[in-house]
Amino acid sequence: MPGRKRTSVLVYEKDPEGLKFLRGFFRKRKDLRPHFLDSADELTEKIETAGADALIVGFPDGSAGLQADAAAIPTVALITGDIPCCLREVLRYNIEYYLMRPFHEDDLELKLKAAMKRRSWFERLYAEKRDLEAIVELTYLISSTLDPHEVLYFVVKKLSEMIEVSRCSVISIGFGEKRYAHVVSSFEDPGVSGIRLDLRKYPEIRKALTSKKPIVVQDAMEDPLMKSVRAAIEPLGIRSIVVIPIIYRDEIIGTLFLRTSRARAAFTRREINLCNAVANVSANVLYNAFLFEKLENEKERLERLAITDYLTGVYNIRYFYHRLEEEFSRAERYGHPISCIMLDIDHFKKINDLYGHRMGDLVLREFAQLVRRHVRKSDVFARYGGEEFIILLPQTPLDGAEKEAARLRLFIREHAFKGIKERITSSIGISCWPVHDVHTYDDLITLADTALFEAKSSGRDRVRISAEIRKKAD
Ligand code: GH3
Ligand code: MG
Ligand code: MG
Repeated sequence: MPGRKRTSVLVYEKDPEGLKFLRGFFRKRKDLRPHFLDSADELTEKIETAGADALIVGFPDGSAGLQADAAAIPTVALITGDIPCCLREVLRYNIEYYLMRPFHEDDLELKLKAAMKRRSWFERLYAEKRDLEAIVELTYLISSTLDPHEVLYFVVKKLSEMIEVSRCSVISIGFGEKRYAHVVSSFEDPGVSGIRLDLRKYPEIRKALTSKKPIVVQDAMEDPLMKSVRAAIEPLGIRSIVVIPIIYRDEIIGTLFLRTSRARAAFTRREINLCNAVANVSANVLYNAFLFEKLENEKERLERLAITDYLTGVYNIRYFYHRLEEEFSRAERYGHPISCIMLDIDHFKKINDLYGHRMGDLVLREFAQLVRRHVRKSDVFARYGGEEFIILLPQTPLDGAEKEAARLRLFIREHAFKGIKERITSSIGISCWPVHDVHTYDDLITLADTALFEAKSSGRDRVRISAEIRKKAD
């Protein structure tokens, strides 16, 4: 039959009568392609390697070349020798279909067909059993306490193991979102999570979303649905596509998205059924992944809020003390110097009086952001309270802190703040460890405060190290 694949049949028969019968049989059947084998060794080898569709083996000679699991290939035995003895052998190899003299071609044809049908039936049963096992495994996994993103990765991994696909992903669709979808999990590349898909380029996903039904494109090069994007997907070598909606409480929250390369046959009914089942069990996880992400973001936001000063956006004093404790004990442990700079805006009350408290707030914020931009990443800059700020400088000796403070004082006095005519100046006090009178981190703060007071009382807009420290450092 033109275009149809012929059935390949391995044949091993030594008996001349059996051989004659077989040759006559094959001569009339052009849909069968026999491959006559010469030795028992060849039989053993070809069963393994030839990938034939069926085997006809003569008894008693066949015994020598068969392994215990001869039934791995649909087999018909031809008994030419002593019947009881050969029958025992045939049964020993689990061969269910056999012929005894007198041989009839119709019999052989029927038995060959039956053996092959039984094989494909077994194969289907076996595949269905495997699919069921996979679904059970996924159900267990899904009710586990793993991070939903991990579970979704297992889902695509499992599917890719069971169905030969070139791409397999879970796509999430935000509620009410029409234009974009996001890849939540992808087997080819575990790192692609979060990639945004422009749905205009995926008519098959769009159709799955509007119809709420699985979409199967058996041949992307032929299907009219893919017409608008054919040129783009042609170089990717995609042949078949399956999109299965993942539905949670009547709402599509995502899809399974599988694609095969052109080298492979189109999707089978069994594969599509498997995807449907997987999509069903995945709905809860995908929904949990949404919640999980929301929760994570919220947690991060709260954590950030807890350490931030609400007005200025820089660290608050609580966080400063937390870091101070850490950095001070680190400095003690490794014998590194550590410094502290305290700043206070000069005559800030005047700004409030002149422009109002609201404007004062804005100036305060601008001041904090200005200083933040100019301190090193490793320094900890926080609002100490009111219009006072504090900087912790780990691994910085006194002269380093002095230089830093001098630089800041200049930046501040040269900056033109929005909305006010006046220039702003600041008074700055410095302290550092190790020096004689600094034993604890509280001493470090107290001495910076004393130095700041000295800067104020000696005229403002200046940097001061406390007289005590200066004395001891000299
Ligand atoms: P100096 O430090 O130079 O001695 O004078 P000053 O006017 O800056 O200091 P003082 O301690 O007398 O006053 C601090 C002012 O800072 C008064 C207070 O209303 C203002 N202030 C403190 N916190 C805030 C704030 O959050 N917003 C605004 N707008 N003003 C604040
Ligand atoms: Mg002040
Ligand atoms: Mg003050």
